[in-house]
Amino acid sequence: MASADAGRRVLILGGGAGGLELASQLAKRSDVAVTLVDREMAHLWKPRLHEFAAGTVSSTLAEVSFYLLAKMRGFHFEQGEVAGIDRGAREVELGPMRDGEGRELAPARRLPYDLCVVALGGVTPDFGIEGVAENAIRLDGPADAEAFRTRFAGAMIRARASGIPAEIVIVGSGATGTELAAHLRNSESGFLAREPGTNGPKLLGITILESAPEIMPGIDADLRAKLVERLRSLDVKTVTDAKIAAIEPDGVRSESGERWPSDVAVWAAGLVGNPLLKELADFELDDKGRIRVDRTLRSTVDERIVAMGDSASVVTKGADKPLPPTAQAAAQEAAYLVDTVSHLLKGQPVEPFAFQNRGRLVSLGRAGAVGRIGSGNGDDFLIHGQFAVAAYHALQRQHQWRVLGTLRGSVAIFADMLSPAKGPALKLHG
Ligand SMILES: Cc1cc2nc3c(=O)[nH]c(=O)nc-3n(C[C@H](O)[C@H](O)[C@H](O)COP(=O)(O)OP(=O)(O)OC[C@H]3O[C@@H](n4cnc5c(N)ncnc54)[C@H](O)[C@@H]3O)c2cc1C
Repeated sequence: MASADAGRRVLILGGGAGGLELASQLAKRSDVAVTLVDREMAHLWKPRLHEFAAGTVSSTLAEVSFYLLAKMRGFHFEQGEVAGIDRGAREVELGPMRDGEGRELAPARRLPYDLCVVALGGVTPDFGIEGVAENAIRLDGPADAEAFRTRFAGAMIRARASGIPAEIVIVGSGATGTELAAHLRNSESGFLAREPGTNGPKLLGITILESAPEIMPGIDADLRAKLVERLRSLDVKTVTDAKIAAIEPDGVRSESGERWPSDVAVWAAGLVGNPLLKELADFELDDKGRIRVDRTLRSTVDERIVAMGDSASVVTKGADKPLPPTAQAAAQEAAYLVDTVSHLLKGQPVEPFAFQNRGRLVSLGRAGAVGRIGSGNGDDFLIHGQFAVAAYHALQRQHQWRVLGTLRGSVAIFADMLSPAKGPALKLHG
């Protein structure tokens, strides 16, 4: 970045749900010079990762090149792996870019900043369980979704040829695992040689394993009952009190010695901050490895570094714990930073961030979808059919408009509407 920009350089690390919205909305402003860093070439919106994994949506429709977006929106894009932050020099270090064989394609670089925004997302922790890294797939990024899709397709082709159903075992009954299970049932129809819903050999067995006594710990009983009923109707088997000891190449084993054979095992047990955050600088981290920030999103160790989204641990006014990791929170933090960034650059005081909980959304199937929106105040209500589907799409529509602008965003939305897969099979994230 040219030195003429000194004093107004905003360096955003991570172009995900939060970072890209921030870069796109800030880019046209004359009082800031925005650089976005991501290790990927293209942005893929994470809340749909399970749909790409299940193959119910083609990722090529939804991926947008960071290089094109940078040109279109007016920010600078630097592709590379963030390796460290030199707080003294106010510079971020990018490691060298390498190909699959380890050959260096581009050298290490250092990027100066006046304000650094850490938006590097989170990962699914393995809790030290044997075999997770080697034998299970975690849905943390596009490469994982791609790996799952390839293995899933292989297992389904074998099942069609042999008549023996493919077995997918998902560990974790949170939103990601449960939504994935529902989408896999949708995907099965693409492999069936008969009409879906008619009798014939089953091609796919889906099992969700949960270590707690009930699935989706934390949700209210009423909602859980509906969820269990819906999973049953989708022929998804759920097993509770299953404490997993190991993931083997062809099965999942519990501490009590039970074993579930699997063609593909998915590990979807929780979310922690990106492990890189520990290495980046001497940040104060919470028990989930997220950067502790104050109510203005500034890190507790350096007011020139803010954190947002799944990388940040922010406790808003009146709350007793940090905000959960959702795209909804990341988007609101991005909007807040758009308003405050000029002040943060000058080290001026700003109003604290306030989170507007738009509630949890549950959409239980395309036909006769049932949703429930909760504001956290106990005034939940049910939404049905097309309202539930529309509410499901709303979050992404807003993301597309903010990232692409109104015209291009609308075109992208229209293209998406023409896609054969419409609406969620099951949507549970907040
Ligand atoms: C299957 C699934 C469904 C979901 N559904 C919903 C939903 O319906 N509603 C909702 O609110 N939330 C949902 N979520 C959660 C939501 O996706 C996340 O909370 C949100 O994406 C967090 O945004 P972020 O910007 O913090 O990080 P991310 O969107 O994860 O972006 C992080 C970015 O950092 C980049 N990056 C990471 N490491 C490096 C590095 N070392 N160097 C350079 N770049 C790097 C990545 O490539 C990525 O682009 C869902 C999550 C999953 C997995």
